[in-house]
Amino acid sequence: MNFRYLLSILLISACGGGGSSGVMDYDSASLSTSTNTNFPCFPNCPLPTAVQNDATIKLINEGFNQPKSNPDQWAIFSTDIEQYYVNREDVIQNLLNTSFGGYMNYNYMVFNEDGPNEVNIPVMNRLIELKYNGWENGYSTEELKDVSSCLAGANPNGYEKDSAYEQHSTCMVWKSFLLYSHAANDPNYMPEDYEIEIQIVQHMQHEYFHHYQRAHALDRGLDYQSAPADDPNQSVNAPWWWIEGAAMSTEFWWIRSNWQNLNFLNKYNSQDINELITYETNRRNSSFWWFLQRIQSSGPYREHSGNINYELIDCSDWQLGPEHSDGYPEDGHNNNDCENQLAPFAPIHFMAHKSSWQIVLRDIPSKYYEYGFWGAVELYTGLNEEEFYLQFNETMRSTNWEDISMTYAPDGWNIPDESIDTHIDFYNIDYFNN
Ligand SMILES: [Zn+2]
Repeated sequence: MNFRYLLSILLISACGGGGSSGVMDYDSASLSTSTNTNFPCFPNCPLPTAVQNDATIKLINEGFNQPKSNPDQWAIFSTDIEQYYVNREDVIQNLLNTSFGGYMNYNYMVFNEDGPNEVNIPVMNRLIELKYNGWENGYSTEELKDVSSCLAGANPNGYEKDSAYEQHSTCMVWKSFLLYSHAANDPNYMPEDYEIEIQIVQHMQHEYFHHYQRAHALDRGLDYQSAPADDPNQSVNAPWWWIEGAAMSTEFWWIRSNWQNLNFLNKYNSQDINELITYETNRRNSSFWWFLQRIQSSGPYREHSGNINYELIDCSDWQLGPEHSDGYPEDGHNNNDCENQLAPFAPIHFMAHKSSWQIVLRDIPSKYYEYGFWGAVELYTGLNEEEFYLQFNETMRSTNWEDISMTYAPDGWNIPDESIDTHIDFYNIDYFNN
């Protein structure tokens, strides 16, 4: 199996016109601090860093960061896409909303990259409404291909953080991907139908999780792309390894917990599906052993199956550090560097081990608008950025990988056996509400 991320998070830069400050109200002192003795950071807890503005108030008032049961979301398809796929999207998205909460302003769009312009008009019209990249002169199918991205975004009322501020997440998918998933771009990869469908579920879960992550950043924006460091509304600044790592950690946990409620999967052999899920879950749950090996050994690496892998690059002595807190890896999606291969995996499990999966996936997002990403981490773990990296790097070296069994992991590292919906009450997230 080869799950590669052809579709990755890519935010339209919100830097816009250089960010003016005329309308900002620098009043962070009025933010109530919710730090109390229950937080592990007590008594030296971080201070809020949010600067509320008219956009923040507008987003809060419309419930942008609130899980809703009936949110304004859009699913738009080219006119030649069979009803089966339209229905499938609806079933998956509804179930995602049930688990993670329904967050407004999510736009999922599928266009036929080989079709005439006419079939793609519904997608083009939605993009024009959103004033998406390149909307001014309309689109052709070719132009849709050029601007397609997932996850991207749109700000139809401009980037000014004023009372009209509106933000959307957009996921544009090619029809061939919807039908064949990763096999669309790889003639040598021939998955079974059930594997394709599970990959589509995985993809939709992953991208929607990014929307949920963004919703809780409100107008600050989630990552380095959202606002420059000298902007008073500076971004929450969540590192890419956390953004991706958190989304990926929930993929098969959510699928394992929910696939039986996806009726289009009924036609497949449930044993095949369970085996796929077990394989993916086991891979995650032997990740402590695996990443210790990657970081302690120069290779070749012993895989879970017992095979020796001579292809993997040498990642011995790799360390996670502040240089990984900002942008995506230089090498983009080539995936042939240690940052790509290690950063979105081991650190998220380490963070869960230091706190809990509920803290990693729900409570940190609930607080990062107010405190920034690292402030939220410090609230819940007592570790600031430097300490977090230090402890991670120490942990990955303090146990010899050859001394443990493949399935050994410290407490809290592995994905819990419980359903994600039982384990994490996403609906009761303590969202920022001033
Ligand atoms: Zn992603």
